[in-house]
Amino acid sequence: MNENEENKKDERDPLDDLEQQFRDLLKRTQGAFSFQAPGSGVSDGTEEPGEESSPETKETLRKIREFNRKPREVRDYLDRYVIKQEEAKKVLSVAVCDHYNHVRRCLENPELRERDYVKQNIILLGPTGVGKTYLMRCISKLIGVPFVKADATKFSETGYVGSDVEDIVRDLVRVAGGDTELAQYGIIYIDEIDKIASQSTAGSRDVSGRGVQVNLLKLMEETEVNLHSQTDLIGQMQAIMEMQRGGGRPPKRTINTRHILFIVSGAFDRLSDLVVDRLESSRIGFAHGGEKGSMEETDYLKEVQTADFIKFGYEPEFIGRLPVRVVCEALNAEDLEKILVQSEGSVLLQYREDFLGYKIDFEATTEAIREVAVRAEKEKTGARGLMTVLERVLRNFKFVLPSTSIQSFEMTRETVMDPETSLKELMKQSLAEQGDVLKAEACRYAEDFTRTHGLTLEFEPDAVDALVEICLTHDKTMRAVCEERFHDLEYGLKLISRNTGKTTFRITREVVEKPDDVLSDWVVKSHRGRGDSKK
Ligand code: ADP
Repeated sequence: MNENEENKKDERDPLDDLEQQFRDLLKRTQGAFSFQAPGSGVSDGTEEPGEESSPETKETLRKIREFNRKPREVRDYLDRYVIKQEEAKKVLSVAVCDHYNHVRRCLENPELRERDYVKQNIILLGPTGVGKTYLMRCISKLIGVPFVKADATKFSETGYVGSDVEDIVRDLVRVAGGDTELAQYGIIYIDEIDKIASQSTAGSRDVSGRGVQVNLLKLMEETEVNLHSQTDLIGQMQAIMEMQRGGGRPPKRTINTRHILFIVSGAFDRLSDLVVDRLESSRIGFAHGGEKGSMEETDYLKEVQTADFIKFGYEPEFIGRLPVRVVCEALNAEDLEKILVQSEGSVLLQYREDFLGYKIDFEATTEAIREVAVRAEKEKTGARGLMTVLERVLRNFKFVLPSTSIQSFEMTRETVMDPETSLKELMKQSLAEQGDVLKAEACRYAEDFTRTHGLTLEFEPDAVDALVEICLTHDKTMRAVCEERFHDLEYGLKLISRNTGKTTFRITREVVEKPDDVLSDWVVKSHRGRGDSKK
C-alpha cells in the first residue's frame, strides 16, 4: 500500500465504519433479537454488576478491601525483580500504599468518597527499558489488580482516527475479565506521554496534544466511562441483547475512574534541555553550574519543576493531576549484569525455562553474562538490550539443540563472541559423545542376546559404526535399531548352529545393512555344509 492509500484509509468516514459494523451484526444475528424502544430499560449506569464475580476475583477484591501493606514491604518485593531505581521504588511504594489505603478506607466508610483527596497519580521519567513499566507491573501483580498499558501516541482527541482515551478504561475492564468492580481499582499505564505535549512553535499551540491532555485529565480526575464506546455499535447492540436475555435486568454499563491509579511515563529527552536553560539562567544554588555533559541526562530530570513541564507543552491542570514525579536512572553494564543474575524476572531464567522444555539444562558462565551485559549496554535500549543480545547469540542453539541428544549446554564468553563456531564445536563434541554411548548400547544388546539365546554375536567395529549412523539419522535408540534389524537373527542362527555346531557369529557392516539377505545366505551355506559332511 502506498502512502496515499494509507492516508485515505485513515481518513475513512466514521459513518462508513458504523454502517459496516451494523451490517456485520445483522448478518451474524439474523433476526435473533428484536429492538426495544430507546430508554425502555437501558441502564443509567447506577445499577450493580449483573453477573456474579468469579471466586478468584472475589479473593482479589477481598485483598484490596483488606489492603495493609507497608511501603517498605512493597519496596522489598520490588527489590526481588527490579535492579537499581531505588528512589523510584521508594516513591512508588509510598504512593501505592497511600492509594490503596485510601481505597480501603473509602470502602469501609463511603462518606470519605465525598471528601477531597488528591489521587497519587504518578509521572515516571527516564530512558527506555530501565524498568518504568516493570515496576508498575510488579506492583499490580503484588496487589492483584488488573494492569493495562497504552501509548499516548495512539490517542486522538476525537477517537475517530486512533483511539479514544476512554478505550483504555474499557481495556482495563477486559483485562479484569469484564468485572467492573475489580477494574475500578486497577492501574492504567500510559507511555510516551511526552509525545502529547503540545508544541508551542511560532506562538500557536498544537490543539490535538492539548485535546488529548484535557481528555486524559478527566479520566485521571473522576468520570464515568461507558463500557461500550459510542462508535462500537455492535457493543451497544450486544448490551441490549444481554439485557433482554437477563430478563430485563440491566447490567452495569459504566465504570467510575475515581479509584483507578494512573501512571504516565516518557523519556522526556527535550525536557532536560529546558531544565538546563532554567538552571543556567538562575545558576544560584546549582552546584554544577548548568554545564550539560558533566551530569547524566537523568540528573537534570531530577531537577524538573512544574514550570518546566508547562514550558515543555503541558497544560497546568494536566501536570497538576500528576503529583508524584519520579526519575528512573539509566542502566550501565554492571546494572545489566545484576539484572541477569539477581532479578527473579531475568531473561536468563526465561531461557533456562525454554531449554528445560526440551529437557536441556542451560547455564551461563560469569564471563558470558558480563559479555552479554557489555554488549547490551551498547544497544542503548536499557534492559531490552539484554534480550536483543541473548536472542542473537542463542537463536540457532534454540533451533538445533532440541533435535539432538544434548542434555546440557553452557554459554561461555566464546559462545557470546562467536555463537556459530561454538554451536559447531558443541555438535561435534556431542556426536562423539553420543557415538560412544550408542556403541556401549550395541555391546549391551549383544550380551543380552548371548544370555537369552546362548549364541555369541561379535560386532565388527564397522558394523557398530553402521548401527550408530542409523541411530543418528533416524533419531532412534540402539536397542530399537538392533531389534528392528536383527529380529529374525535368533531363528536363523539357531538353525545354522544346529547344522554346523557353530555358536559364535561375526556381525559385519553387510549384516547390518542387509540382514535378511546375509542370513538366508548363511542358512543355505550351513545346509550345504551339512550335506557335504554327510557325503
Ligand atoms: P521502560 O522503562 O521502557 O518502561 P520496561 O520496564 O518495559 O522499560 O523494561 C523492559 C524489560 O526489561 C522489563 O520487562 C524487564 O524484564 C527488564 N528490565 C528493565 N529494567 C529493569 C530493571 N531495572 N531491573 C530488572 N529488569 C529490568
